[in-house]
Amino acid sequence: MLVSAKEMLTKAKAGKYAVGQFNINNLEWTKAILLTAEELKSPVILGVSEGAGKYMCGFKTVAAMVSSMIEELKITVPVALHLDHGSYEACMKCVEAGFSSIMFDGSHYPIAENVEKTTELVALCAEKNLSLEAEVGSIGGEEDGVVGMGECADPDECKMIADLGVTMLAAGIGNIHGKYPANWQGLSFDTLAKVQEKTGEMPLVLHGGTGIPADMIRRAISLGVAKINVNTECQLAFAAATRTYVEEGKDLVGKGFDPRKLLAPGVEAIKATVREKMELFGSIGKA
Ligand SMILES: [Zn+2]
Repeated sequence: MLVSAKEMLTKAKAGKYAVGQFNINNLEWTKAILLTAEELKSPVILGVSEGAGKYMCGFKTVAAMVSSMIEELKITVPVALHLDHGSYEACMKCVEAGFSSIMFDGSHYPIAENVEKTTELVALCAEKNLSLEAEVGSIGGEEDGVVGMGECADPDECKMIADLGVTMLAAGIGNIHGKYPANWQGLSFDTLAKVQEKTGEMPLVLHGGTGIPADMIRRAISLGVAKINVNTECQLAFAAATRTYVEEGKDLVGKGFDPRKLLAPGVEAIKATVREKMELFGSIGKA
């Protein structure tokens, strides 16, 4: 059964570890992440962007696949199905489709409009027992065609949004989506400390987890980050393993062209990446 992310993140913040949000793209991705979470007894959040939702034939298809997989694979650890960077309209669709968590990305709205729409969604999520993530200060890089510059959030705006009653808050602290450029300045721990001071118990979310050095991840967790989003890293691992399989000509040997064989190394690579992240985030055995 899908659960809201509230309880797992409250526990994580109190216990000084973080729960990984791993974005899914298809059945193989979902299976790899769920099996690893179960094996390691870690809570997990499955992230779905609007683009990935569309690719997987709509949010209803995704919710049905994930719910059925949890049942068929006998997954017992807490699993949240979460809309990543949702528009207001996508949030509504995911609530209807049976997601257990949503992110409203109102960071590109003027703060007054972000507040108004977030307030509406807070009421809806409370009624349906869903967790709600809000974002302040846009996160850099490109996600589904939207490019942000990686600004640092205003701690007072963070408090304003947190006080509306959201479950968790993504604050921009110089983090970006995708691969980090060579001249990246690193995370702004000064901003993070100020945001944490203003927002107290609110679990904070770190987007763009791919390529942030391990020591920065640990420091971010010590400063109140309880959810870390990982997307690109699983994609890179999957692509590299699949490339090797094909370049070694294994698809040309026997029934190596069978998708169950062709995609298997990629699935194993995702599992290894998820395991590595769960170790780093400290969520193993916390289910
Ligand atoms: Zn993000």
